[in-house]
Amino acid sequence: MVAVMDRRGEVANLVLTRWGDLLNEISASVVDRDAAELPPPPELMAAAASTGLQALALPRQVGGEGVDPLTWGMVLEQIGYRCMDVAFPLLLSIRTTIAQLLYETGRADVIEGYVIPIAEGRCAAGTAYTEDADAFAFHTQIHRKGDGYVLSGHKVYVTGGLLTDVFLTYPLDEAGDMVACLVHRDDPGVRVTPADGLGHRTTAAGTVTFDDVLLPADRLVAASDGLTHAQRFLSDQRLWIVCAPLGRAQAVLEDCVARLTGTIRYGESVAGMKNVQSSLGRMYVAIESARAMLYHALSYVTAGGAEPIFDPVVSAAKYFVAEQVRFVLELALRVLGGYGYYGTPHLGRYIRDYAGLAVAAGTQDILEVNLGATAVARAGRV
Ligand SMILES: Cc1cc2nc3c(=O)[nH]c(=O)nc-3n(C[C@H](O)[C@H](O)[C@H](O)COP(=O)(O)OP(=O)(O)OC[C@H]3O[C@@H](n4cnc5c(N)ncnc54)[C@H](O)[C@@H]3O)c2cc1C
Repeated sequence: MVAVMDRRGEVANLVLTRWGDLLNEISASVVDRDAAELPPPPELMAAAASTGLQALALPRQVGGEGVDPLTWGMVLEQIGYRCMDVAFPLLLSIRTTIAQLLYETGRADVIEGYVIPIAEGRCAAGTAYTEDADAFAFHTQIHRKGDGYVLSGHKVYVTGGLLTDVFLTYPLDEAGDMVACLVHRDDPGVRVTPADGLGHRTTAAGTVTFDDVLLPADRLVAASDGLTHAQRFLSDQRLWIVCAPLGRAQAVLEDCVARLTGTIRYGESVAGMKNVQSSLGRMYVAIESARAMLYHALSYVTAGGAEPIFDPVVSAAKYFVAEQVRFVLELALRVLGGYGYYGTPHLGRYIRDYAGLAVAAGTQDILEVNLGATAVARAGRV
């Protein structure tokens, strides 16, 4: 753990010196953009790519720096600590995960056509998986037509969908098997519309409809068992999705201390009141324990120990960190009094945004069930 905390210090320094100004710029406009439902400015997303952030965790062969999962998770945590816009680390991590999955196809055309452009910020990728149906009853269908395919259906929520140039999507084929394929936003028959949500209003979320979209055969990146492909994406993303929120929870705790230290009630600083200190103490415990769990899972993935489809350690980390982040926000609201509700434009936004952690990348309920089932299965093997 000592070495891990040393690495954390190095990563904090790296993020501050390389991207601190960029993160401040993105944060500066977040309140207005949240109200207007606008994503981070395109020039700042481009700067993330031109300064190597989008490619940081990608292999050197595609222009990346090949940082390991522990370092990448810590980078995302530090971005969350410094950046007040939930969209920025989420878009970065989704695009990196898609690029990594596509890189693993080993196909030169896919690497040249998609992975390198994503790494360089020339192509925005999004995942169009979710429908209002379970994976075996998806309505999105793909059929053979001549040398290629025809795709029809509708995906209900794509983070960054309004910005997306290429969708990694998952239809069912004639045999009912899921496949994974790439669809360009400018393919005839692709329609993208804004998706409303409780939070994440700066992520440019969209729905995408495919009306008889003709796809050449080379757009298939998994010709069978696309469900495993999708689960790989979700399993990876499960860990990345909580890193930045944990960093933000740390920032919220520090903001609470600063605000409450300067707030005088009945002639004394509110931060000196024992009940307030107790709340701050519980927030601290939540953050430290969540960080220990997250770093354990990141180290485990870095060591190559994680299962690619459903890993109990990774899933437990997502579950636990998500619960702690939401707990910290709830306590912040209680301890800040009216200021938390109407005095700052930020806390309410975080509460709305991070409510999504209960749902995204595997609902908390499903993770509980799957973790319990894993425990039962393991006991059965003894
Ligand atoms: C912030 C955010 C970003 C997202 N980004 C994307 C994106 O980029 N691309 C994308 O495709 N999707 C995205 N999603 C959608 C997300 O992946 C799904 O909403 C999530 O996986 C849950 O699926 P669902 O909505 O179909 O839930 P449902 O399956 O409708 O779940 C409803 C209820 O049933 C329970 N349930 C369902 N199945 C089981 C089961 N087998 N065992 C036990 N309980 C079960 C669930 O726990 C839940 O309580 C995003 C969601 C959020 C909140």
